[in-house]
Amino acid sequence: MRVYLVNPSQISFGTAVITPRWLYVLAGATPAHWGDPVVADETLQPLDTDLIEPGDVVGIGIHTGNASRGYDVGRRARARGASVVYGGIHATLYPEEAIEVGQAHAVVKGDGDVVWAQVIEDCVAGKPQRVYDAGRVAGRSFARARWDLLPRDQYLWASVQTVRGCPKHCSFCSVWRTDGQEPRQPAVDDVMEEIVELRRRGFRFIALADDNFYPVSLTDLAAAARKSDPARLRALEAVRAQQFELLERLSAMPADMVFFTQITMEAAEDPAFLDAMHKARIRGALVGVESVTDEGLKDVYKGFNLSGDALAERLQTFKRHGVYVLASFIFGLPSDRAATFEATAALAEQAGVTFAQFVTLTPFPGTIDFQRWERESPVAKQTVDGIPSSRYWLIPRSKRPILNTAHPTMSEEEIRRRTQETWDRFYGLRRIWARAHMLNSIRGRLAFVLISKLYRQMYANTGLTTDSGRTQRSARMARVLARLCRRLFLGAPMPELQLDGSIRPGAAKAA
Ligand code: SF4
Repeated sequence: MRVYLVNPSQISFGTAVITPRWLYVLAGATPAHWGDPVVADETLQPLDTDLIEPGDVVGIGIHTGNASRGYDVGRRARARGASVVYGGIHATLYPEEAIEVGQAHAVVKGDGDVVWAQVIEDCVAGKPQRVYDAGRVAGRSFARARWDLLPRDQYLWASVQTVRGCPKHCSFCSVWRTDGQEPRQPAVDDVMEEIVELRRRGFRFIALADDNFYPVSLTDLAAAARKSDPARLRALEAVRAQQFELLERLSAMPADMVFFTQITMEAAEDPAFLDAMHKARIRGALVGVESVTDEGLKDVYKGFNLSGDALAERLQTFKRHGVYVLASFIFGLPSDRAATFEATAALAEQAGVTFAQFVTLTPFPGTIDFQRWERESPVAKQTVDGIPSSRYWLIPRSKRPILNTAHPTMSEEEIRRRTQETWDRFYGLRRIWARAHMLNSIRGRLAFVLISKLYRQMYANTGLTTDSGRTQRSARMARVLARLCRRLFLGAPMPELQLDGSIRPGAAKAA
């Protein structure tokens, strides 16, 4: 009997930017007596389902974007006699769909860290439960990832997790509902042990793949103090203190390491936190800007963000503290107009952001936007090939609309075209080269150009078109760029690296 862990994907690039951490976490949660699981990340290459044998247990993690491919893999695995188990955000939200469409034997709702061992036992005994309600495990119970199973030369960035959950409540995001609003942190020692292990294996670039690396803002602390709620204040201070402790420990890591994370814009009000991030070599952060207008921010319940010149100034603050920003913008909000695209591109330049992504508003299950859209939008009531549009992920890709919301003034095609033009403008060679001048060496600047082009190729060109020929061409180009980029990211393994950042010859087992 073999255990398979599958990250489904329609498109394979041969190289991926960030390790899908959950695969290696569930590998870590797989009891040793079942042997090493087969870890199959289809963003690298498709899984050969003919290798699956009767009695194997196949765990498939799905989000809405890859649910359809996941169901395909699951049906094939079941036809070969395997036990099929789904987990992940989408399966948590739609367990019955995974059973009906994906032919699941079992579905895990919530975190798999603790329950996965029991699921395997039950499958092997031929008595899996239909649904395992695993809930949210405490930070101290997060499973450790099996990084020894990670192929060294196929990912640009490794990933660790320092906090699950986010106290905000953005209308387009499901994280705060699925992972909860209370931050859950693993012990700092556990995080550092993983980071040291990854550097020992040659990974210099590590994503702190958190929902929100800045879970307690100064505003949150002030609000708790104002409410005279000492217990709440102490809890928030403890979370914040742990993030600072982690940052201090990261700063002792080898000088060639680079970290990247995801934070809210409020961190710009917190110079002590930004300075600690810089000292820890967190050189980049994804910041959800979403909209450059007040109306747009209201549309997504993100009133804590700023707009206009104040927004540009706030984004510049990150850069002044040495934290470069990957700004994320959403197009297609009800208040967006044709001029919004130009204004967004101009603001991204004015604010000096290093990377940007421009996504079209899509109502994802589990979000407030989705509930509202499902209830109110005439589009949600339509069907395509007998499938309701409110289950758009089940509609064949070639017939699936890019944007599922009816916009008050723009057509779907206009939003798609203007979004593509904004990507083209931001990632034009002249503009990338101008941004590359933040780096001193020519080699560094060339690497920056390559990475910028790769980013655009992977995330813009494959996501915004319904033309499968164009998608395949973009995927091929991304594959070439990814191969070129790979070498820039890896370092020589450091098998003797210790937890405190020192190097002790012969003190550590070779990676
Ligand atoms: S978008 Fe970011 S800040 Fe908003 S709820 Fe989701 S994780 Fe939190």
